[in-house]
Amino acid sequence: MSRFLDEKYASLDAYVPGEQPQDKKYIKLNTNESPYPPPPSVAEAAAKAAASLQLYSDPECCELRRLLADELGVGAENIILSNGSDEALNFAFMAFSGGGVTFADVTYGFYRVFADLHRLQSHIIPLRADFTLSPDDYVDKGSLIVIANPNAPTGLVISLDDVEYIVKSNPRAVVLIDEAYIDFGGDSALPLIKKYDNLLVVRTFSKSRSLAGARLGYAIAQAGLIEDLNKIKYSTNPYNVNSMTLAAGYAAIKEKEYYTRANKDIIAVREMTAKRLRDSGFEVLPSNANFIFTKYPGFDGKMLYTSFKEAGILVRHFPGPRTSDFIRVSIGRKEEMDTFINTAVSIVKK
Ligand SMILES: *Cc1c(COP(=O)(O)O)cnc(C)c1O
Repeated sequence: MSRFLDEKYASLDAYVPGEQPQDKKYIKLNTNESPYPPPPSVAEAAAKAAASLQLYSDPECCELRRLLADELGVGAENIILSNGSDEALNFAFMAFSGGGVTFADVTYGFYRVFADLHRLQSHIIPLRADFTLSPDDYVDKGSLIVIANPNAPTGLVISLDDVEYIVKSNPRAVVLIDEAYIDFGGDSALPLIKKYDNLLVVRTFSKSRSLAGARLGYAIAQAGLIEDLNKIKYSTNPYNVNSMTLAAGYAAIKEKEYYTRANKDIIAVREMTAKRLRDSGFEVLPSNANFIFTKYPGFDGKMLYTSFKEAGILVRHFPGPRTSDFIRVSIGRKEEMDTFINTAVSIVKK
């Protein structure tokens, strides 16, 4: 830290992304990326767009927004595109947090960081002992409510009825449902958008569209909320999505079959992995995402993380009273998960 940093940021604990080590080749199961590359048409579209990089990208993202809107059965005015969904989350934390923000104690770590960055009053609500969320804890909070569904790093979901109950019981505030993993399980809140003017759904191309490196996310809501988010966007970074990413996203939406099959594979490998781990004595939370959250009796999560790393496999460990026994393991290709499971068994049998 230099002596010039504004003191309001001095004590901020920034988000710590999963490691992307360059020193050697690991089986990388630590950041919930897709194990499959995007189809060739996506890279081709991005390369073609690269030929016109002297021009600014379309700040309104018209073509991609139109296509995505048709795909989702909403209007183009119901969508804002963002530089990864993290940016959409940041915009929402800026726009709708006048009354503070409410989120669970075990959830996506960036919510805490955005709350601290914008110096918001945070209401952190513990999940139940089994990591499920109690909807009654979220009634009429008078603050922005942020819920990841499926949740990270647990992989657990809440039902559409519970989402609606929370949205309906918070007429004074925005309820943000972060659906980063919705293509791997759970029911989307999208059908509720037409009915509720306080619901904001945030999604990403990073996980189920194999585009983590392109940085493309979006938010869906009634036009009023989207207008508010645009106000923040045009006050910070009007060209927030670059032209190569716009082209890649457009091509990706056209490749529905490829992604349907890839995501189905990931789900099948997830279930196979969970079953074999349970058969070997691991506890595995029922996952609706492209990762699993698991622990082994008598083992500390940090210890497991280190043993896997020594064996050339990267997983994620989250320190903290409720999560430190666990590791989060992204679902890789079948062969990678075979190696992971064999390694897991040899670590705990030693
Ligand atoms: C990965 C993730 C995001 C962020 O994804 P982007 O790459 O910024 O689109 C947002 N929310 C949750 C819960 C995530 O796991």
